Amino acid sequence: MAHEVTWAEHTEATLREAGHRSGSGRRAVIEVLGRRGCLMSAHDILDELRAGGRGIGFATVYRALETLNELGLVRRVDPGTGSAAYEPVHPSGEHHHHVVCDRCGDVAPFSDDALERAIHELSRRIGREIEGHEVVLRGSCTACRTR
Ligand SMILES: [Zn+2]
Ligand SMILES: [Zn+2]
Ligand SMILES: [Zn+2]
Repeated sequence: MAHEVTWAEHTEATLREAGHRSGSGRRAVIEVLGRRGCLMSAHDILDELRAGGRGIGFATVYRALETLNELGLVRRVDPGTGSAAYEPVHPSGEHHHHVVCDRCGDVAPFSDDALERAIHELSRRIGREIEGHEVVLRGSCTACRTR
């Protein structure tokens, strides 16, 4: 069975090819982001690293994210919660979208084949080669609705 390349592995390889020396700080950022596999702000990443006992500076996390963003390995997304967050970008094009709670800022991922097909159909109808799309749905989460 072929080993499926994880986002973290793909990311480390791309960084090496681009001539970036590996740093333990950046590796830790990639590890955390890869494990979550969804939106994280620089502060989220910092909190998680510190909770795991990693003494790491905000500047290191921020620089790592900027480098990953420049190489197209993460996507900067503003989910409307006030702080920019970063989403891992899979080389396969595999992705998901988000539903954001306007009241508490909770972000939940979802994916939907019918939605992807509809976007594909739409691209044909409007005669454009669609290279990317962003879908953010807004609605109160269960906790806020029952509060
Ligand atoms: Zn996500
Ligand atoms: Zn909520
Ligand atoms: Zn999509």
